[in-house]
Amino acid sequence: MIYSHSRLQAYENCPLKFKLRYLDHIKREEAESIEAFVGKRVHEVLQKLYEEALLTRTNTLGDLLNYYDLLWKENWNDNITIVRKKYNKEHYYQFGRKGIENYYKRYQPFDQSITIGTEMKVNFDLDQAGKYKITGYIDRVAHTNGIYEAHDYKTGASLPSQKHLDTDRQLAFYQIAIQEKWPDAKEVRLIWHYLAFDLDLISKREPADLEKLKMDTITLIDKIETAKEFPAIESGLCNWCEYPDLCPKRKHFYIVENLGENGYFKDKGVSLTNKYAQLAGEKEKIDEKINIVKEQIIQYACKENIEIIKGNDHKVKVKITSRLKFPGKETLERAAIDSLLKDEGKWLEVSDLNAVTLSKICKQNTWDKSLIDKVREFATEEDTVSVYLSQLDEYEED
Ligand code: SF4
Repeated sequence: MIYSHSRLQAYENCPLKFKLRYLDHIKREEAESIEAFVGKRVHEVLQKLYEEALLTRTNTLGDLLNYYDLLWKENWNDNITIVRKKYNKEHYYQFGRKGIENYYKRYQPFDQSITIGTEMKVNFDLDQAGKYKITGYIDRVAHTNGIYEAHDYKTGASLPSQKHLDTDRQLAFYQIAIQEKWPDAKEVRLIWHYLAFDLDLISKREPADLEKLKMDTITLIDKIETAKEFPAIESGLCNWCEYPDLCPKRKHFYIVENLGENGYFKDKGVSLTNKYAQLAGEKEKIDEKINIVKEQIIQYACKENIEIIKGNDHKVKVKITSRLKFPGKETLERAAIDSLLKDEGKWLEVSDLNAVTLSKICKQNTWDKSLIDKVREFATEEDTVSVYLSQLDEYEED
């Protein structure tokens, strides 16, 4: 498989979705999100701007906004979904328009650098043998005085930190591609244009950063290609996922959405969840009352110097024990005790195998495979079932 930043990110965000889309090739009539729709239109407008600027035609802001209107009308369709219900089509339309205006005013007459290409496809290998292949599209590549630039237009409504961008994978990939394509590049600058914020963020990568990126990406690709399990990882992105019917985390939402009001209230899952939430609420109130009485019992027992209190059919025993408390893990004091006990040869008397951590290591294969295989021989597989209750989030409510 040829990988791209978005493919790798798809796996990192949710292995199940990655599997359904890229390994099982389950095609879905993609309901395009309004965010993606706006992003595409804005990219098309800026592509026109720079392609035509190269041929000495400078678009006015009016030209670009008219083109945006035209693209919007031509491409709008009823399958475009708006997940954030407090915003409507007009809000998003204006949001994209504002981004174009911001960009235009900041950069006209667009002669800061010379554009080499827009929406430029790049391919490169992560290794000498060409086993690990990466592909991608750079929004715009430009140069000035031997300095190359990879430009990325961002049309979202959130701004990442500089620290986040300094470790961003996507544009660093593009730096590798640019350096391979134009070895004369003295420097490559990675530039993100956050249109809604009228702000540019810039980052640079040193050769050692790129080498590390290559190694990390190879490790990730190996992990993907040897994966046996593809867990569903729930996140805010689920609201835009095209496979809710195939996902154990979202299947029930999908089923009840299509039931209609009558069917919804008759659904077994809905009524069980409602019952469970009701009982859990009652239990919480009772627990609060129990804690108040427990506190009163302790105060009574201490005041009267009584250890066992008699009731009609029950008795309550109050036991006060004191124990030594030692510093928690990851503290310097804890490290000092660890080392003292090891030096004194007493470590094994008080240390214990952390079975939870060991199980996690085996599941995530973070040790050498041969060691994990040996450890696994001592383990038996056992399922534990937990049931958690929580409030629906704003996108999950009807
Ligand atoms: S709905 Fe969420 S958890 Fe399920 S496959 Fe899609 S992204 Fe993954």
